[in-house]
Amino acid sequence: MGRIDISVVIPLYNEEENVPLLLERLKEVLTTLGRTFEVVCVDDGSTDRTVEILKGLKERYPFLRVVVFRRNFGQSAAMAAGFDFARGDIVISMDGDLQNDPSDIPRLIQKLEEGYDVVSGWRRQRRDPLFTRKIPSMIANWIIGRATGVRLHDYGCSLKAYRREVVKNISLYGELHRFIPVLASFYGARIAEIPVRHHPRRLGQSKYGLSRTYRVILDLLLMLFFKRFATRPLHIFGLLGGGMILLGTAIEVYLSVLKIFYGEDIGGRPLLLLGILLIITGVNLFGTGLLAELLVRTYHESQGKPIYTVREVIE
Ligand code: UDP
Ligand code: MG
Repeated sequence: MGRIDISVVIPLYNEEENVPLLLERLKEVLTTLGRTFEVVCVDDGSTDRTVEILKGLKERYPFLRVVVFRRNFGQSAAMAAGFDFARGDIVISMDGDLQNDPSDIPRLIQKLEEGYDVVSGWRRQRRDPLFTRKIPSMIANWIIGRATGVRLHDYGCSLKAYRREVVKNISLYGELHRFIPVLASFYGARIAEIPVRHHPRRLGQSKYGLSRTYRVILDLLLMLFFKRFATRPLHIFGLLGGGMILLGTAIEVYLSVLKIFYGEDIGGRPLLLLGILLIITGVNLFGTGLLAELLVRTYHESQGKPIYTVREVIE
């Protein structure tokens, strides 16, 4: 498979109304760049006519490639598949509902070529519902910024440009497409952010609501934990468990000395209970650490397994 200049990756889940206009707008913008390009549409198990419509448009838009999932695996998996299939030196990700504006793509690429590895869009004027979307996002953006040290205004914007190495070296799972800049920074990417347009969704329905925020936050915690202790969980569990075992043992030794050499009655002392609890909990934590260490190895060994299954690829 020969390399090309630009790949645009688009996850689609029941976007039949949006696909035709989306491709037309992309064609208009991408042809002005004077480079080779492809558009990789990943159908995430749509139950409407999205796939038929994509197939019908293949002839009109030869740059179109379609990956069809066997079922709905979620936006992160669809993006991951797009990244896997992308042949471009520069990869652009965006939503398929025209909330992102294809006309921002040239500016993203220009910024990338100033010497960045990821350029993230910033929806300065986000056109989404306030309470269910914008406020949870504001909170999430604040937490992510503090927790990760990667300071952006808008992590969740799908419209982004990446150098090829970045997308080929990060692995997505759960809801992690929202944290691609963070994952990229773990990888060592130079990241920039530029304001982009954002439009209200005109056709079709949003697939998300408030309930996702909860899952997003859990995924974030898991990811931060992984960054720190992914390779050696025993480092934290071992330290905690070992410390507790030592402290508990010291307490028990002290009490034993009191009992044996000074003949004191130690039966009713709260300290006795504390010492025992510390030892038991410490041993448990240590055991958990060992188990986690095993899990991590399993995790790394299973990395080769895809997080999605493909029914069909239309080239
Ligand atoms: N999407 C997807 N799989 C899903 C949910 C969404 O591929 O399970 C796609 C969807 O078709 C769209 C993009 O992800 O292209 C963003 O979804 P949506 O517009 O519903 O999210 P919002 O803009 O409301 O955050
Ligand atoms: Mg949308």
